[in-house]
Amino acid sequence: MGNYPAEPFKIKAVENIEMTTKEDRKEAIKEAGYNTFLLDSDDVYIDLLTDSGTSAMSDEQWASLMIGDEAYAGSNNWYKLEEAVKEVYGFDYVVPTHQGRGAENLLSQIMIEEGDYIPGNMYFTTTKAHQELNGGTFVDVIIDEGHQSVADHPFKGNVDLEKYKDLIDEVGADKIPYICVAVTVNMAGGQPVSMDNLRKVKEISERNSIKVMYDATRCVENAYFIKKNEEGYQDKSIAEILKEMMSYADGCTMSGKKDCLVNIGGFLAMDEEDLYQEATQLVVVYEGMPTYGGLAGRDMEAMATGIYESVNYEYIEHRVEQVQYLGNKLDEAGVPIIKPIGGHAVFIDAKEFLPHLSQDELPAQALAAAIYVDSGVRSMERGVVSAGRDEDGSHHYPKLETVRLTIPRRVYTYAHMDVVADSVINLYENRKNIKGLKFVYEPPVLRFFTSRFEPIE
Ligand SMILES: *Cc1c(COP(=O)(O)O)cnc(C)c1O
Repeated sequence: MGNYPAEPFKIKAVENIEMTTKEDRKEAIKEAGYNTFLLDSDDVYIDLLTDSGTSAMSDEQWASLMIGDEAYAGSNNWYKLEEAVKEVYGFDYVVPTHQGRGAENLLSQIMIEEGDYIPGNMYFTTTKAHQELNGGTFVDVIIDEGHQSVADHPFKGNVDLEKYKDLIDEVGADKIPYICVAVTVNMAGGQPVSMDNLRKVKEISERNSIKVMYDATRCVENAYFIKKNEEGYQDKSIAEILKEMMSYADGCTMSGKKDCLVNIGGFLAMDEEDLYQEATQLVVVYEGMPTYGGLAGRDMEAMATGIYESVNYEYIEHRVEQVQYLGNKLDEAGVPIIKPIGGHAVFIDAKEFLPHLSQDELPAQALAAAIYVDSGVRSMERGVVSAGRDEDGSHHYPKLETVRLTIPRRVYTYAHMDVVADSVINLYENRKNIKGLKFVYEPPVLRFFTSRFEPIE
């Protein structure tokens, strides 16, 4: 490689990191029960646990914090946020929420009735939970390639139009209040959806009076992939592409903690006034006044600033290409990863990486712990531990057993990516030494957060 877009920013403030030794880290991971979620961040060198709320804000965003208008109602920061969403996303109505799931809660309560079906291009944990809490059933309509670890498809997040039409035929359009389209698809590995697919989803939905609601969490990354890989978009700006994407939706939920470049915040946006009225009735119950929705004035200001920054080409090119750089380095060294490489993370295929371990020996959990000990890099298990147990009490064995290396926005340099790559490649060359893990403590729900493990000797 060696050929990459260098940082389109310079560093004004630094956060020093405590350097640890391998001996320190062996002790720390043991104390954390071999679960990277239970490590103290002080013990971590490069933190790739998540890209959620971990972005570095710009100097202009920090300046935004100083002009917070902390009025209970009608804060001028709210009007700036509303204007930013209208201008950049193109929706007429905006309801602020404390983060993405707050918007999901409002949307699900307003639109879903007991017995409804909500198709989506692969599930997301909080999205599906809110759909189910409101009596809905999630139906996966992503193309088959979305479930394959390696597929030669530039838009693995696409909706399978036949699966979608079959569902409409089967349950009836009146049982489908909306289709939830994630752009990009987190759980599939940050995989984008093509403009052509979004257009066709809109056509089918309109014909059947089904609304289209996006999970817009990583929509700017999606726009970058369209510019890069879809015929006819090379000469369009990110802002133009994003606007066109959003024109095929009736609204969206947004986690500001991702593509809006803030540490907390979110919103629900839509075109229809009736829906907006209902949302404002609910937001006061769950979040706060419709002019702050659980956010401080300063946080709304920082999010508005972040929304404008996020559609800058040099920013998004650097962000996505940094992820590609790490993924390509691993791929070139033969490390098995999910391909194509997505927009926010590199997913290592832990089953392929550690073929000597069965899924019962928790290969992804074991690999995440080994990476931490080797280099102080914190990653996350996305495999059998995250998948939990089935109703009969046995492990639910997901097809993909992965370790996720998620890159925070604007936080780390290419040199940090080299440290990560070198460590993973070194472990791959010595993979036979990595032992499996077994549970020593397991909570009944969302076990990946707090379970504890021990090496199998
Ligand atoms: C993070 C995320 C959410 C939820 O947003 P929060 O701000 O964490 O509540 C929803 N959908 C996707 C795809 C996400 O990545």
